[in-house]
Amino acid sequence: MRDKLLDLESRSRQLEPGPQARAKARDHLVSYSENFLNTIEDVKAFNKTDDQGVGLFDAPIIEDGIGIEEAIDLIRENVDTPGLNPASGGHLAYIPGGGIYYSALGDYLADVFNRYAGVFYASPGAVRMENMLIRWMCDLVGYPPESHGNLTTSGSLANMIAMVVARDGKNIKSADVPRSVIYLSKQTHHSIDKGIRVAGLGECILRFIELDDLFRIDAAALEQQIEQDNIAGLNPFLVVASAGTTDVGAIDPLPEIGEIAKRHGLWYHIDAAYGGFFILTEEGKTKLRGLELADSIIIDPHKGLFLPYGLGVVLVKKVEDLKRSFRFDAHYMQDAFAGPDEISPAEISPELTKHFRGLRLWLPLKLHGLAPFRACLEEKLLLAKYFYAEVQKLGFECRLEPELSVVVYRYVPKTGDANAFNKRLLEAVVADGRVFISSTVLEGNYTLRFACLAFRTHLKIVDTLLDVLKENVARLEEETV
Ligand SMILES: *Cc1c(COP(=O)(O)O)cnc(C)c1O
Repeated sequence: MRDKLLDLESRSRQLEPGPQARAKARDHLVSYSENFLNTIEDVKAFNKTDDQGVGLFDAPIIEDGIGIEEAIDLIRENVDTPGLNPASGGHLAYIPGGGIYYSALGDYLADVFNRYAGVFYASPGAVRMENMLIRWMCDLVGYPPESHGNLTTSGSLANMIAMVVARDGKNIKSADVPRSVIYLSKQTHHSIDKGIRVAGLGECILRFIELDDLFRIDAAALEQQIEQDNIAGLNPFLVVASAGTTDVGAIDPLPEIGEIAKRHGLWYHIDAAYGGFFILTEEGKTKLRGLELADSIIIDPHKGLFLPYGLGVVLVKKVEDLKRSFRFDAHYMQDAFAGPDEISPAEISPELTKHFRGLRLWLPLKLHGLAPFRACLEEKLLLAKYFYAEVQKLGFECRLEPELSVVVYRYVPKTGDANAFNKRLLEAVVADGRVFISSTVLEGNYTLRFACLAFRTHLKIVDTLLDVLKENVARLEEETV
């Protein structure tokens, strides 16, 4: 048996590359990523290729390993070339991503050290760091000391957790579901609907409240509907507002909805995945008044703090509500919760073993300080105002003044169908590839969207978009004559 063990040991030790092998792999990887970062301004924001990464299938997972060069070649060709380049400042579609570099270094350290961030007993420092970040975000939104939250992988998961906590907070049992009512709007992000279904609330009555002229929930209509539902013997229990809708960046009337929720005893959830971190700017702080009234809030550092994908946050005003939904008991964990002086993520979240994702947020916040984040967010708000003004000078119509950093715009051609024209215009912009834009449907009209949240988006890129739009409008107008 000892011989067998030694033989297995020598083979399994291949999983521990020595200093030279580590240096070789690391240097190759660093030089690949450095080259990417040094040329990021020249790389296309969108790259339509024919093969779309299918070459990966020619290199299946087999017994033998390959060299780092070969591995990087596979990644370059199949992963990092086709499709959207979210690291580009030319990403002006959907809600743009980012990928600040120090986050990558945080992930690197988190992965090398592999601290167990689920339980205080295992890694008091990691848990303190994550709790400290959650505390910082609770303070940002104006939450009291008894608030807490979870660092999740995304806003969608954060919304799902909030739906579960709302359900339990209002004690909705399965028998109550058919007569229980949730209030939201047609502009509510679809992850709320997913969360509702995952939480077992899919058969609740959903009331999509009318929107006002600015695509915000009409608070008076909301209250009227709640009153009607009460009279009808139903059980109104949850209202969801958006602080920055994905579509147009509209902010629902947060203080008014807060008062209504309080008056009628509803759980108040605010989805601030996109808009929340604008609270770091003076303008955002004013516009996001009322955030603190919510029972739960989600915000997305991988949007508003420009982190690489993989970090959303749910904040809950009373930690007791998180404990109620996610408490657990396991004999094999009996030593782990012997009176820690910090709450462990595992006690108040659906996860046990988890990535130490706090480090990817902490490191950039500490290395940069907050000031450049504030500046970058303020710049995005101002770029939206700039684009709004300039695109109209090119003859585009803008249905709304930008509330945050999304602008909706469409061109009405001299002749022909405007919807088809704007669709062709979008296709031309995407084919050009320097900037990447997306569209939506507003009041039945195919409408283009400018969404500015990538940290690498600066004046020059917005000017490039304006140029590309101008060129293509002229060309398409000529073609249709
Ligand atoms: C992006 C977004 C979400 C979903 O967040 P993910 O991190 O993409 O899962 C939820 N709500 C709003 C308003 C969003 O913009």
